[in-house]
Amino acid sequence: MSSKNQLISWFLKNRKALPWRPEDPYAFRNDYFVWISEIMLQQTQVAAVCEHFSRWILRFPKISDLAKASEKDVLSHWQGLGYYSRAKNILRTAQILVRDYNGFLPASRKELEALPGIGKYTAGAILSLARHEKEAILDGNLIRIFSRLEKIPFLPDQKSSSDFYWNIAREWSSSKKAFLINEALMELGRNCCKVKNPTCNVCPLKANCKAFISKQISLFPPKKKKSFEEWIGLVLVIESENGKIFFTDNDQSHFLKKQKTLPHFEFPYSESKNFPAKAEEWISFNLVKEFHFCGRFKHSITRYKIDCNVLHVLTTQKISSKNPNWISKKNLLKETANSFSLKALKVASL
Ligand code: SF4
Repeated sequence: MSSKNQLISWFLKNRKALPWRPEDPYAFRNDYFVWISEIMLQQTQVAAVCEHFSRWILRFPKISDLAKASEKDVLSHWQGLGYYSRAKNILRTAQILVRDYNGFLPASRKELEALPGIGKYTAGAILSLARHEKEAILDGNLIRIFSRLEKIPFLPDQKSSSDFYWNIAREWSSSKKAFLINEALMELGRNCCKVKNPTCNVCPLKANCKAFISKQISLFPPKKKKSFEEWIGLVLVIESENGKIFFTDNDQSHFLKKQKTLPHFEFPYSESKNFPAKAEEWISFNLVKEFHFCGRFKHSITRYKIDCNVLHVLTTQKISSKNPNWISKKNLLKETANSFSLKALKVASL
């Protein structure tokens, strides 16, 4: 039996039931469901996605329902999945689909990849998993499998090496059963050819896996060089007299760009307990009733390692309930959509 057929027969026996998968593995799939589930699965564990996906589809059963929703509603259904820019892109894409494509995902790879948040991988997943076209997909799971099968000693971190991996992915998907092969590879990467301790004994590809045969699995794929950026800063918890906390849309920052967060900026640690001049970009000192440094917290976001001091500032302002940048203290947990701000609020005992 060829490797592709061995993989398919393994998948049909081991295929897990998931809320976005129809019972029949040969059925065409709802492309909206494939799109949403694949975006949710980026950087998030399957178990967390299962719960969120079912809730999402109940609330937004069609692309047209999603396009009509407010950003706040969409983000609240994303809460817990992290990387909120994914949810914002989904909403923007749904609005474009209703405006330009009658509320459906377009037909070609080129049109799909032009939509916000849909890259080569997601376009390939929509075309192959939902519509059964001979289209390739490539993500971290497939890169790991391909690197081990062929003992490829490099990662797809440049145009030429990325093309190399995509060509292998195209070879695997050059079959009428690409929809099964692609999904089988994804499942194999998640449940068998795992990063640590792959279960090679039950792998359908072990007879052709060069890393397994030569007992060199730990060498493939090669390790990525980590490049962290250290960030030392100050986060402001600005509280109005009537108990509201100020949030900004954060278009200038290094991280969490264009997300609603507490204001923050680079700030060298010092013994000084004065009101930092830079804080006046957010709140005039004339409006400050009292302030105090509450403590520090550490946080990592993508390649940033953040070490942050927290300054709680009580102001003399009274803020109207209509101002969207100010959130009342009782709604903080519900409306604060990122863990960076939640940690700062905890340090400030809010
Ligand atoms: S034999 Fe092991 S290393 Fe090779 S593809 Fe299968 S699980 Fe991965």
